[in-house]
Amino acid sequence: MTQQYSLAQGREYLAIPGPSVMPDAVLQAMHRPSPNIYDGALVEMMPGLTRDLKRVARTEHHVAIYIANGHGTWEAALSNVIAPGETVLAPASGRFTHGWAEMAEGIGAKVSLLDFGMSSTWDLDRIAEALRADTTHQIKAVLAVHVDTSSSIRNDIPALRAVLDDLNHPALLMADCIASLGCDRFEMDAWGVDVMVTASQKGLMTPAGVGFVFFNDKAQAKRAEMPRVSQYWDWQPRVTPEMFYQYFNGTAPTHHLYGLRAALDLIHAEGIEAIWARHARLAKAIWTACEIWAQGDALQLNVADRAHRSHAVTALRLTDGRGTPLRRFTETQLGLTLGIGLGMEDQDGCFRLGHMGHVNAQMVMAMLGGMETAMAALSIPRGSGALEAAAAVLADQIQG
Ligand SMILES: *Cc1c(COP(=O)(O)O)cnc(C)c1O
Repeated sequence: MTQQYSLAQGREYLAIPGPSVMPDAVLQAMHRPSPNIYDGALVEMMPGLTRDLKRVARTEHHVAIYIANGHGTWEAALSNVIAPGETVLAPASGRFTHGWAEMAEGIGAKVSLLDFGMSSTWDLDRIAEALRADTTHQIKAVLAVHVDTSSSIRNDIPALRAVLDDLNHPALLMADCIASLGCDRFEMDAWGVDVMVTASQKGLMTPAGVGFVFFNDKAQAKRAEMPRVSQYWDWQPRVTPEMFYQYFNGTAPTHHLYGLRAALDLIHAEGIEAIWARHARLAKAIWTACEIWAQGDALQLNVADRAHRSHAVTALRLTDGRGTPLRRFTETQLGLTLGIGLGMEDQDGCFRLGHMGHVNAQMVMAMLGGMETAMAALSIPRGSGALEAAAAVLADQIQG
């Protein structure tokens, strides 16, 4: 590069897989003085917030809200249903499952880990084998990461439910939907999920710092049998508060709640089915472009089979460690920030595109255009016609 100036001035685009782009309506809703936490609008907001969160998760059951990030919800959920010495089964298709499993070990659980690597979905036969071998039902929960954000694998949760049902295994089905909720189809009750965790900063388009644990009556029954539950993580007072402060075990995350209210209004105005369809189409445009670029033998999609790819994040790899230079170029020269690789051996080769939440077609074309520009600047070999093909997917001319 001989160029001595940057083309990055202008509105920047943070296209990483969380935190996601925040809508202006969310930002504006938070721009206000601190509200009264004992009375008034904030207190009155809570029933509507929990109702609308449950609509997004497609559940009629319960939601506890925590001042926490996703890692906090992992611990919160486990703390309510897994006692020290109990076993959880963790089928891993990426780094995040390992993280949740380590959290389980941290609270004294035994972890039975099935590692399917960084590019494959669950092998349901191996999961069934592990559950079948557990004749005394030592496994109390299966930790199921729906979309593993490191690999961009999307796992089949209904199929896992069917495995548990076929074997009559009573383990709780616990899902991590931190990357998928509000992006990929997820239906907690219809899919038979007992506990689901998510966080504010991805499909829910709100700043990081608030986490959610959804649970049904089966999980609540397990909670009732626990010898003890640490007071801060206990979900019970949070779902049946007698006083407002019990929703959060202390001061409410006031501004997050206003932001979340605005985000839920956007979600329900668009409609969750329409949101899933939008993410699916945008993902198809991205895959189409990437598959064409891949013809140059330098770029690879981490997940080969479209059926197992997330609609919210795409993990990619460039040969010769050129992922890091590509990201550096898009960020400093174009004002486009792409995600780093996570949990991959080839750290400099790997990178990720975030396309979760408040993302539309012109943003996706800008992201793809930024990649095309960076690959041109770095002389990375690639198939041609990627942008035209992506445009055709968005224009509904081809199925993609
Ligand atoms: C982002 C993410 C997490 C971690 O969330 P934090 O808020 O960073 O703690 C966990 N699981 C999945 C699937 C994620 O995408």
